[in-house]
Amino acid sequence: MSKQLKYLIIHCTATPDGRKVTSDDIRRWHLSPQPEGRGWSRVGYTDMIHLDGRVERLAPNNEDDQVDSWEITNGAAGVNGVSRHIVYVGGIDRFMRPKDTRTISQFNALKKYVRDFVKRFPFVKVAGHNQFYTKSCPSFNVPLWLRQIGLNEKNIYETK
Ligand SMILES: [Zn+2]
Repeated sequence: MSKQLKYLIIHCTATPDGRKVTSDDIRRWHLSPQPEGRGWSRVGYTDMIHLDGRVERLAPNNEDDQVDSWEITNGAAGVNGVSRHIVYVGGIDRFMRPKDTRTISQFNALKKYVRDFVKRFPFVKVAGHNQFYTKSCPSFNVPLWLRQIGLNEKNIYETK
């Protein structure tokens, strides 16, 4: 079963400024049984942007405009079946407070990712996790940032 892709949702790993995170870390946090992990069947994100701007694929995807059941990742319950989730490493300061910790490399990699994505899927709306749930992830105002990088209004998800 597949559904039409609707959202690109941006996340942070909620790890302190400057701390590296590996794909194995994500798998352990998301897939290990509780209480060590969340006990999910899938990781939360399709792609991860490392501190150096490298984009790593975490979950398989055939890159078409349909979300197949085998492509679903668990980033935001309720919309996973119609969403792509992307995460950058970081998002909190050393006191565990929300902070936009994106490095220049991450900032540029995310900008490129978002722009390429809406070029390929012009109907997609880009959002932050915090626009669907009351939480700080991804620790910056996504609609505001999308406007700053000149993204087309039609691709910016606004919370009603
Ligand atoms: Zn999130």
